[in-house]
Amino acid sequence: MNLNIERSAFRTLVIGSSNKGKVNEFKTLLSNYPLLICAQPDGLDVEETGKDFIENARLKAIAAARYTGEIALADDSGLCVQALGGAPGVYSSRYASTDRERIARLLRELKNFSNRSAFFLAALCVSSPNGEVLLEVEGRCDGFIASEPKGNGGFGYDPIFKDKATGLTFSEMGINQKQKISHRALAFKALEPGLKKILNC
Ligand code: IMP
Repeated sequence: MNLNIERSAFRTLVIGSSNKGKVNEFKTLLSNYPLLICAQPDGLDVEETGKDFIENARLKAIAAARYTGEIALADDSGLCVQALGGAPGVYSSRYASTDRERIARLLRELKNFSNRSAFFLAALCVSSPNGEVLLEVEGRCDGFIASEPKGNGGFGYDPIFKDKATGLTFSEMGINQKQKISHRALAFKALEPGLKKILNC
């Protein structure tokens, strides 16, 4: 991996996602960086054919970087539920059509299980404009699936994912607390040293 890239090349960072919840979380995480953060343009649809989170993150980062001609950071993430053999996993966004239906399906499938252990996993990949992978990291957050949705914040499965330490769902705790412990925040922490080198700051 070649990290000797000129600072001027990093004025814009494209987030390789069309998920508003994710893009907002990255904007918060990157708020101290001298960067213009943009979501990927409408119309870029990347097929998630990877066998795991890191392969999908790579596909999305490379596609967004090549499409825009900018550095791109992509995240592939999902919820893995122990009693369901790791499902929905890489299929988290495709588990049903809407967040509400995805949550309803998960609660339905878990109805007869007492084991509610689950974890969120986020894989992050940074690609150069020509599709070279510059950084790859992962972050994981362990918790439990609640018996019913609670809280109003966040996105996706946040209303049913309970943090081990506080017993609050991600939706109940709000973005600032979520940003301290979430899979995406932990992956971002692992990404930061490399990102700083790339950004020369
Ligand atoms: P993808 O990475 O775009 O394939 O989608 C990941 C899916 O996992 C999202 O659509 C959400 O349903 C779920 N997900 C990932 N991260 C989070 C999170 O922080 N909170 C809630 N749901 C999440």
